[in-house]
Amino acid sequence: MFKKILIANRGEIACRIIRTAKAMGVQTVAVYSDADRNALHVQMADEAVYLGPAPSKESYLVIDKVIQAALSSGAEAIHPGYGFLSENSIFCQQCAAHGLVFIGPPVEAILAMGSKSAAKTIMEEAGVPLVPGYHGNDQNPAVLKQAADKMGYPVLLKAAAGGGGKGMRAVFGAHEFDEALAAAKREAMNAFNDDIMLVEKYLLGPRHVEIQVFCDQHQNAVYLFERDCSVQRRHQKVIEEAPAPGMTSDLREKMGAAAVRAARAINYEGAGTVEFLLDSTGQFFFMEMNTRLQVEHPVTEMISGQDLVEWQLRVAAGEPLPCAQEQLQINGHAFEARIYAEDPDNDFLPASGQVTGLRTPQQNRHVRIDSGVVEGDEVSIYYDPMIAKLIVWDSDRDRALARLREALSDYQIEGLTSNVRFLYNLASSDAFCQGNIDTGFIEQHEAEIFRQRADDISYAAPLAGQAISAARQQRAAAKAQRSNDPNSPWHLANNWRLNQLATPPVTITIGQQQVEVEVTSAVLDSCVKVVTQAQGFTLFTPRGAFQCSEVAPDLGLDQDNHHSGSLSAPMNGTVVALLTETGKTVSKGQTLMVIEAMKMEHAIVAPSAGTVSEFFYQPGDLVDGGTELLAFAASEEILQ
Ligand code: ADP
Repeated sequence: MFKKILIANRGEIACRIIRTAKAMGVQTVAVYSDADRNALHVQMADEAVYLGPAPSKESYLVIDKVIQAALSSGAEAIHPGYGFLSENSIFCQQCAAHGLVFIGPPVEAILAMGSKSAAKTIMEEAGVPLVPGYHGNDQNPAVLKQAADKMGYPVLLKAAAGGGGKGMRAVFGAHEFDEALAAAKREAMNAFNDDIMLVEKYLLGPRHVEIQVFCDQHQNAVYLFERDCSVQRRHQKVIEEAPAPGMTSDLREKMGAAAVRAARAINYEGAGTVEFLLDSTGQFFFMEMNTRLQVEHPVTEMISGQDLVEWQLRVAAGEPLPCAQEQLQINGHAFEARIYAEDPDNDFLPASGQVTGLRTPQQNRHVRIDSGVVEGDEVSIYYDPMIAKLIVWDSDRDRALARLREALSDYQIEGLTSNVRFLYNLASSDAFCQGNIDTGFIEQHEAEIFRQRADDISYAAPLAGQAISAARQQRAAAKAQRSNDPNSPWHLANNWRLNQLATPPVTITIGQQQVEVEVTSAVLDSCVKVVTQAQGFTLFTPRGAFQCSEVAPDLGLDQDNHHSGSLSAPMNGTVVALLTETGKTVSKGQTLMVIEAMKMEHAIVAPSAGTVSEFFYQPGDLVDGGTELLAFAASEEILQ
């Protein structure tokens, strides 16, 4: 086994790898950028080497610097984690050239799977079923469009070099093709420096089921069952689980065998994941193979009882796989929820800022938290906005899901917007509880997940009133305790009035809606948990989570200056394109400008028909969140 390894990554995955290395008696070297000087992974490692400025292009992605860090610290091997350099064939080659072991597959396997197009050709030859589509070399837009027209809409445009759902666009009709292609290509160029596209038939309502495979240097190959990662937003996974609900052992064996065939076809070594789309008839189609450890690997660890990072280190050191296929068994059910700094109510826009307060559920054999963020840390705009992965396990799906809800309601993050409430709502929706999931789940169940329906609000409103009352009484009791006369009637906060019981109404917002509630002194329902934050409080109920806050009385000071649509930058980012000209009439919803932030494009759209009278920024300009981007005149104003 290695004596010392370098982890070429940051955040939760760097911490995760360090944990296993320590348990195996392997010394660890962390690397860090300016933004991560005090990060958890740096503190956990035995040593740490500085790489450079915060942007990953100047630190975590600079191959020479990472290699030098390994050489100067005497590390024998490099674990790349996921993202960053983990699937970079040049990095893998450079490791070998400097006598360092790359903890991952051979460079040929990375190259074979690096392009989704090339991978599909190899898999076709290995007899692995594919999603129908065009994965040819001719990238002429007319050829791509012809392929789409021929296979029939909807189609999905995908960046061959893609990952993380970037550079991907669904196209529902021929008239949308050109704009979608341009946008997908731009996003791909930006994120991967490569805009080769493939066109696939866009399957409606499939499930994303992936198989974890593992191979060693001695021709042994096994699969560690499946993960269902169907619940996605923007084609990115949100909650993953293992095993897949409703999976039969027959189908599992077929998919497992196909995945192992895929791995063998490229002489694979180490941990890999073969991703399939599974349709409602039980047919499955190869999508791509990820030649690294996946974000969601913990659910596999929880049901198999294996430590996949340990397996990776052993395989990279030349040892045989720790288990044969027949020794592997599924035990119970596990979920992983990805906790992100993002705003689900605002199209999941990434958020950044300081985590000013953090309280997490207790970790035990049922609850595991993989995180690289501690209280006081900054979630910066430079990296992925993931705060933590919450993983739960129990003997069956229902029990595990109850643990997930419980743990989510115990997860409190202050200082920035997170998706915790959204995850809780997802985990408490009926369809999810029944295991009726597919990749369209979030869109289909929007009303339930976002809890904006009238009956949800009327359910939550009295509970909010009770919560406010309980909080007032607690505050009053605390004040009474501190006073000279704790029993004075002046400390009562139970709405007592002479000759009548007053229940003065209070205006609160629940989600986006304002309602009047009576502050009754009824005791709060025991199934409801109230979590107070700096602004307002959250009610965690059996019917979902509700964000509530008291509205300050209207003193008539507010100016009515609401716009029908925001034409300001949603967050810090770069202007990438202006899609209309000043003075030209545009229709409502038409894209006027595109901003790129955190490698994701955001469209600034016309709030109504009208014209842009002036663009305040040009492509390439950096803009701060909230900055006015352009002057827009609605059509009615032009007519006047
Ligand atoms: P990435 O590498 O960017 O994550 P994938 O190829 O893994 O992209 O696809 C991400 C997700 O997009 C899938 O999990 C699935 O939900 C959806 N998807 C991909 N291809 C198709 C398709 N042909 N039809 C329907 N959905 C698809």
